[in-house]
Amino acid sequence: MCRFGPAGNSPAFYKSGGKSSLEVPQWLYNLGLSAYEYQCGRGVKTGEETAKLIGINAEKYGIALSIHAPYYINLCTPEKDKLQKSKNHLLKSMQLAKWMKADLVVFHPGSVGSLDRKDAFKNAARALEDLLINEVPKWGLDGIKISPETMGRKSQFGSLDEVIELCKIFNLVPTIDFAHIHALGQGLLKTKDDFNRIFEKVESNLGYDVLKNLHIHFSQIEFTASGEKRHWSMREEGFGPDFSLLAPLLIEKDLEATIICESADRQVEDALVYKSIYDHLKN
Ligand SMILES: [Zn+2]
Repeated sequence: MCRFGPAGNSPAFYKSGGKSSLEVPQWLYNLGLSAYEYQCGRGVKTGEETAKLIGINAEKYGIALSIHAPYYINLCTPEKDKLQKSKNHLLKSMQLAKWMKADLVVFHPGSVGSLDRKDAFKNAARALEDLLINEVPKWGLDGIKISPETMGRKSQFGSLDEVIELCKIFNLVPTIDFAHIHALGQGLLKTKDDFNRIFEKVESNLGYDVLKNLHIHFSQIEFTASGEKRHWSMREEGFGPDFSLLAPLLIEKDLEATIICESADRQVEDALVYKSIYDHLKN
């Protein structure tokens, strides 16, 4: 079975009277959802005690937890102190994942800026090598999974190929953001086959096990010539990609993927729609 859930605490949570992230696992369980991506986009500010309580509640209600690391991580930067700050953001997110017993930490690998893409790749690879070999053991964070996300703008580092290559080298699992892939490819995902090609690429490079347990981001997205403009929800018409093209593949390939919905302000509502499309095909 695939899991579905929201990115962060949606407006629906607060509208229903929710106050603290501690309550989110039970709230999601009552709605029939089973995944929750905890957002640290603007920095890791959660303390140990809160983190552990969220983890306990998630376990109690069968919610798979992931963490989204701060947006300003840039492993491609040639500037030493910016790079060290980026590594620290990632390490703090991993520390949080350890406290919460989260499955993985999703991160945006970086920005290409004025660099040549090949140099951006080399910098990111060097940074990850140092992080994983030297810093992770120092922080006592061995075994915490980090997951580079496929990005939606040309100026960002993290095309599908770049993410897969990093995962291959460092034995990581990718986060496949279909909205970003759609935006970067100027509306690439139009048919079931278009989605299938992404899955085939993941499987042939990283193996079926990685595909089976894939971490997925999904939402509708608006794009321009340079890629992602903004995320939308299913309520706004005219934006892809279409979840109903992906759903049959999840079943045919027997995936136990986690699908995190990033719809603008309607993460929970749309996660429930995705789930109902999936459940309907499954039964
Ligand atoms: Zn992201």
